[in-house]
Amino acid sequence: MLNSTLRTPSRLLASLTKLQVRTFITSIANPMIVKPVPCLQDNYSYILLDESSKTAAVVDPVEPDKVLGALEESYPEYKLTTILTTHHHWDHAGGNNKLLKKRPGLTVYGGSQQVQGVTKVITSEQQQVKLGDLEIQPYLTRGHTMDHISYYVKDNNEGVVFTGDCLFSSGCGRFFEGTPNDVHDALTRLRSLPETTTVYFGHEYTVSNCEFASRIEPQNQLLHEKLAWARQVGCTTPTTLLNESLTNPFLRVHEPSVRQAVMQEDDNATGLTDVQVLGRLRQMKDNA
Ligand SMILES: [Zn+2]
Repeated sequence: MLNSTLRTPSRLLASLTKLQVRTFITSIANPMIVKPVPCLQDNYSYILLDESSKTAAVVDPVEPDKVLGALEESYPEYKLTTILTTHHHWDHAGGNNKLLKKRPGLTVYGGSQQVQGVTKVITSEQQQVKLGDLEIQPYLTRGHTMDHISYYVKDNNEGVVFTGDCLFSSGCGRFFEGTPNDVHDALTRLRSLPETTTVYFGHEYTVSNCEFASRIEPQNQLLHEKLAWARQVGCTTPTTLLNESLTNPFLRVHEPSVRQAVMQEDDNATGLTDVQVLGRLRQMKDNA
């Protein structure tokens, strides 16, 4: 699978483009639908719908009017019950109280008491999160913040994950509160999900991420194609874990090409661990 994909990168990109216009009515028994809602300058909120119970959740609804407008316009028969917050930063959690005023009684999930309006704090991946018949698996993906949660949702056929500011398309979030070890752990566990998993990320940074990644791996033809595609389409959410495993240097710290690029920056960088390569790579991106 991997090798044939590497030989046909443009086919992979074509499938990615198709994903953007596809909804996730993927099974009879337990279908889900995901709709991105662009907010602020480059943020994404998301609407997640459970078809069978006609209930809705919103992920990081920083501009409640925009998210409610999208929900009421396209899916008026759904009842909003839940807010899934990825982390406490204002551009993700900052709309929670305003939305609670408009829709009292919502369940607000988040990874700490720092999350605005939180009613259920997630401190363990064993905690059950449900939306109607959909089971939502929280992942503690610490590093960008120490309360960062990613939400993995699977219906009968398809898995999707909301990765906030942990994992972007061809990039990752800054390590504001955690260590490279925390982020490596978070990214490793996200990467262990099935490669067909659809990834909904928190910011539209794909062009600048691909520009940086192309400098790290100039021989990676798929990256150059992805950069050209991202410049053309503007909105690049979602991506897939397969695509990220081939185009995201922060998921590729074990690859000789990425290691080599990091070592070229520092003559003393022999024998680095994957965690150290990740830390140096993030520093290079911060300084780019
Ligand atoms: Zn953030």
